[in-house]
Amino acid sequence: MKIIFGCLNHEANSFAEDPGTWERWFRTNFVAVREELYAYRDKKGAHLAGMFAAAEEEGAELIPAIFGAGAAPVLTREALDRGVGIICDVIREHPDADGLCFCLHGAGIAEGIDDIETYTIRKMREAAGWRIPVAISCDLHANIKAAMLEEADAGVFGMKQYPHIDKFETGHLAMQTLIRKIRGEIDPVTAFCPIPLLIPCSVANTLRPPMKLFPDHMAEYCQEHGLIDVTFFNGFPYADTEYTGASVVVVGRRGQDVQAMADELGRWVWDHRHLTDIELLSAGAAWDKAEEAASRLGNYVVIHEASDNPGGGSPGDGTGMLREMLRRNEPGTIFGYIFDREILELARKAGVGGRISGLLGGKASSLCGAPVRLDNAEVLALSDGVGIYLTPNKVGQRVDYQGLARLRAGNAEIIVAGTCANQTYDDRPFALTGADINDYRIVLLKSATHFRAWFQDRAKAIITANTPGTTTEDFSLFPYRKLRRPIYPLDPGMEFDV
Ligand SMILES: [Zn+2]
Repeated sequence: MKIIFGCLNHEANSFAEDPGTWERWFRTNFVAVREELYAYRDKKGAHLAGMFAAAEEEGAELIPAIFGAGAAPVLTREALDRGVGIICDVIREHPDADGLCFCLHGAGIAEGIDDIETYTIRKMREAAGWRIPVAISCDLHANIKAAMLEEADAGVFGMKQYPHIDKFETGHLAMQTLIRKIRGEIDPVTAFCPIPLLIPCSVANTLRPPMKLFPDHMAEYCQEHGLIDVTFFNGFPYADTEYTGASVVVVGRRGQDVQAMADELGRWVWDHRHLTDIELLSAGAAWDKAEEAASRLGNYVVIHEASDNPGGGSPGDGTGMLREMLRRNEPGTIFGYIFDREILELARKAGVGGRISGLLGGKASSLCGAPVRLDNAEVLALSDGVGIYLTPNKVGQRVDYQGLARLRAGNAEIIVAGTCANQTYDDRPFALTGADINDYRIVLLKSATHFRAWFQDRAKAIITANTPGTTTEDFSLFPYRKLRRPIYPLDPGMEFDV
């Protein structure tokens, strides 16, 4: 048996203002094609590793196509068709393939296409020339749509955890189910219940209550009812489509009433929607709270600026928290990191010990604040920015920040990076520039929840800041055009009947 497999992930931020080109989508170093995918075989934090493992266990032969993943603005058609074209070329070269197993994020948009996953599956089938079986693994932030479920006849399987520490298991289940369907051992049927609910990314941490309750309940229900899989998808609120929002997807065996089960679980989620309510803190309020926690608990307290999260397609150069940090000018504070190639270049030219002046951040989006003036900032350290992740959701994978500089402006230390392809997942930006994170009282970073996989048990406290930004969690600030209404929390008094 031969399976063509890979990953082509796009998480669309409709409100990001830069063009969604191929380069912006992947930012460099994030695309692997064909045999290069074997590098992911042992990377436990990847869908592909799970797919490799399941194929090996089931004795199927694998044909690698592409690995590419990124959060970005709405894609150009050229960028999307380039990625899909690579997959279709591989499919045409292997007319004897028995099935397709792909990780497609589930919240991708391109110019004129609000559902790039269904588009991709249909293009793949066209290339195969027959209704070849397809299994899809998705991100927890997928905005699920009926057409995609219909096309993925071997099932749609989602990650359950956020931070996404279960990519391996998700890829494994998708591949295993596909192979067993091709062998005729199971006949999966899928149903979903869309829920009119936008979930702020920073409240959705499943490592702890209250949000841990959601995947725990789904897993229990899955086991009790003998289902293949149940996923509660959070949806991705920054993709402005008619499909945007949370949902429950149930994959069962033919004969099981999967629609009734999806509806029952959808109702359960709706009844628990208040667990996703969020308190929005301004930069100043977040700083005050962090100060109080740091003086009580010691090193170190994290402020995470969820509203400018590169992992959600925001540029990572927003200046909301940065401005507050410079205004407070307190020792023992460090920001890891701000994306700014111009300032990085100035730092490189000045060298360690040199001084630089210029405008930092606020250059990529009008939603993320104006640039901040640096005067005579000292260059403390420089790095090529290449390292290996320690965090469980990326462990062993290479990270390339395209250069890092650690600066001191007044009493504050700021790390500047040459790319925003990677939100801060662990202490890599700090360690690569020679900073021991434990030496600081307040550590600032840009991420909604993924950073928690590494920081949750290390930080004394974690404070969420909601400054102006392309991933602000005040959804009322966005000019949605296609989003279905009513939807919670924008329409707080609404009723919902599945
Ligand atoms: Zn996600």
